[in-house]
Amino acid sequence: MRLKALFCWVVALYLVTAMGCAKARPGKVILFVGDGMGLAQREAARVAGFGPAGRLAMDQLEQISLVTTYSASGYTTDSAAGATAWSAGCKTNNRFLAMSPDSTAVRTILEYARDAGYSTGLVTTTTLTHATPAAFAAHISDRGAEAQIAEQMLATGPDVMLGGGRSFWMPKSQTGSKREDERDLRAEARSAGYEVVQSAGELSRLDLSRPRRLLGLFAEGHLPYRYDWQDEQVPELAALTRTALELLDHNERGFFLMVEGGRIDHACHNNDANRAVWEAIAFDQAVAEGIQYARRWNDTLVIVVADHETGGMSVGTGCYSGFAQIPRQGAFPEHGVQLDSLLCISWTTKSHSAIPVIAGALGPGSGHFRGLVDNTALFPVMMETLGLRP
Ligand SMILES: [Zn+2]
Repeated sequence: MRLKALFCWVVALYLVTAMGCAKARPGKVILFVGDGMGLAQREAARVAGFGPAGRLAMDQLEQISLVTTYSASGYTTDSAAGATAWSAGCKTNNRFLAMSPDSTAVRTILEYARDAGYSTGLVTTTTLTHATPAAFAAHISDRGAEAQIAEQMLATGPDVMLGGGRSFWMPKSQTGSKREDERDLRAEARSAGYEVVQSAGELSRLDLSRPRRLLGLFAEGHLPYRYDWQDEQVPELAALTRTALELLDHNERGFFLMVEGGRIDHACHNNDANRAVWEAIAFDQAVAEGIQYARRWNDTLVIVVADHETGGMSVGTGCYSGFAQIPRQGAFPEHGVQLDSLLCISWTTKSHSAIPVIAGALGPGSGHFRGLVDNTALFPVMMETLGLRP
């Protein structure tokens, strides 16, 4: 009898162990995009925020590549072609979103992941329908058609979509709308099972303890520059990232999440050092959330990359007139960095530059990040981490 009981225990133990082994390891990818964030932007944020010996959160990513960024239509890419290189692994023309240069739709990693049962999310500080997030969930050869892009993104249906650009989701008759029809895409989203929130307060009252689809539209246009915040009802990019991670984490299969600090680029187009630095630091705080999540679970590929550099920015202390200067303690004063001189920022263009950007990575698959790679090389690495094949 005792022998029989022992036998039963051994069989039960074997079954439990076998079931545990059969359960697949989840696939999780967080792609952080600092739009327009070249090495100079990173350096300015590091020194202005934390001093010459300081470190950004993104500096914790030890696997590093240099990334070439040219597009199919030019040596200097725009954000649409740049994001398509990651989302679909293909070079395309500037202004094209997840379309090949001959205008054929190309499937994105978000669509592959969604169809394989992963949760998916897109988070940005720009309009949700702006080039970078749109390249993961829309297929169109004109990145400017944001009203149409909103329809496509809703149809693609990422589980979490957080950003600005409410105008493109509102019916024409409502003040502030940028639509040419009476479709209310927020109402359509509710019908499709999304919770729709429009302020930081509404976001903070959400119950994140159970899975839900979430659409957050926190401004009519882009979210305001972090530097200009007074009493804004806008959540920090870090808070948006934390919310997205809490929701996506409910899916045991895993998830694909893209988080964009989208307005570093805008500030750099204006050669505006203060706003560029604050945007980069706010972006870095979002990266910190991703790294914290990845370190907790040890199963998440975190990538931090830029689509291109903007402004031909340089940093140093040798100023001469006409160049922007920011007090080093000017960014996020709570860091308390006090320096006796100025950090000088100089610019060579109001457009994008073609200089390679940095990609840093941590977690499964991060070993691929070394040497000089092309921006299209990120797609297969992320797909492999999720166990997906194109
Ligand atoms: Zn730009």
